[in-house]
Amino acid sequence: MNLNEGPGPGRHDFASGSCEICGENEAVITCSRCGRRVCGLDFDWGRGVCLACRDTSCYICGDYSIALCALCGRPVCRRHSSRVGLKRVCEDCLSKSRLGALGP
Ligand SMILES: [Zn+2]
Ligand SMILES: [Zn+2]
Ligand SMILES: [Zn+2]
Ligand SMILES: [Zn+2]
Repeated sequence: MNLNEGPGPGRHDFASGSCEICGENEAVITCSRCGRRVCGLDFDWGRGVCLACRDTSCYICGDYSIALCALCGRPVCRRHSSRVGLKRVCEDCLSKSRLGALGP
């Protein structure tokens, strides 16, 4: 007499899954840049990328950033930053510092 064990141990295949950034909230959208599934709180709806991508993207154009601005700390790409000595400064800070009290 065989006892059927049924469909076996239940598998927990969540159709939606949880956010790959915070791991707490339910993922609602897939980032088109990195493919992460993230919740609404970890997605920058204005730029259309997840926060992880936003943090590594030029804040001006959204391209892959190569450095953080030494003054404001925002990520910038090669085109939107310039080397100042050993540091890299974004266009925004550069123009401000030129207009400001940057002495000779
Ligand atoms: Zn999240
Ligand atoms: Zn992403
Ligand atoms: Zn840029
Ligand atoms: Zn800056």
